[in-house]
Amino acid sequence: MEATVNNSPSWWQTHKFTILRNIVYISIIIALIVIPTFKIIKIDLAHNEAWIFGESKPVIDGIIPVIAALGFFAILVIILNMIQGRVFCGWICPGGWFAEVQEKLRRKLGKDSKFVYIVITFIMTIIFTGMFFNWVTDLRVFFYYTNPAFIPMWVALIAVFPIFFWELYIGKRWCRTFCPTGIYQKLTPHFYYYKPALKPPYTTKDCGTCRECLKVCPMALDPRKIALMEDTINRPGLSSCIVCGECVDACTEVWAKKGKEPILGFLHEVPVREV
Ligand code: SF4
Ligand code: SF4
Repeated sequence: MEATVNNSPSWWQTHKFTILRNIVYISIIIALIVIPTFKIIKIDLAHNEAWIFGESKPVIDGIIPVIAALGFFAILVIILNMIQGRVFCGWICPGGWFAEVQEKLRRKLGKDSKFVYIVITFIMTIIFTGMFFNWVTDLRVFFYYTNPAFIPMWVALIAVFPIFFWELYIGKRWCRTFCPTGIYQKLTPHFYYYKPALKPPYTTKDCGTCRECLKVCPMALDPRKIALMEDTINRPGLSSCIVCGECVDACTEVWAKKGKEPILGFLHEVPVREV
């Protein structure tokens, strides 16, 4: 019943979703840096002006495109959630990417390198915070105490920095439990056109002791079962899945070594059965 494949699969075959997701994530992060840096859209509270396509405007004129950009992301979350669940979290949200990098780093460093992890988290938080402040001010304002925006900007920075630091420090737990966008997506109507699931007629008995898909799932789910679980807040199931495909990549790697097709995939129809 198992289809055979080339048992030396390419790196692409076994890391397809990781590569594609990182391309999308990093492109969005680059856009979020480039747009305000090159003054395509930017508010500069330090100089009391805004920029739209390189043209200086009054601050009030710059607020409209920034609100429009935020509105675009909000609408994107709502629409994507109704088609393919939390795909925004797994492919688009810069916070999700930073949290994932942090999570991998923490696992790699282990418990003995806590200090190194704190230092790296601090540096990452500076980058992450700078990315957001770059939209509303000339970042040099933090070094010019004569500027009227110096104190308000430092107050804002001191207020958000600990939150961002904590978000990155706890890694993917932020996305699993605390992120307001994530909670919103779980609670509001959502639909997963494709769900991670075992391809029929496979069951967990076919997995043996593998569990590789569980180990890589950033949302700490059992990818073999979630599509069959009831979705509740207390027992996270499909509504916590960020459609990252890491589980499918892991399963592909496991079965490719045996010269076989993976038994886990993204399915549209998931038949009711024992797993
Ligand atoms: S990676 Fe594949 S074989 Fe291993 S536990 Fe997951 S579904 Fe089963
Ligand atoms: S179940 Fe699979 S697709 Fe869903 S979050 Fe976990 S690893 Fe990603």
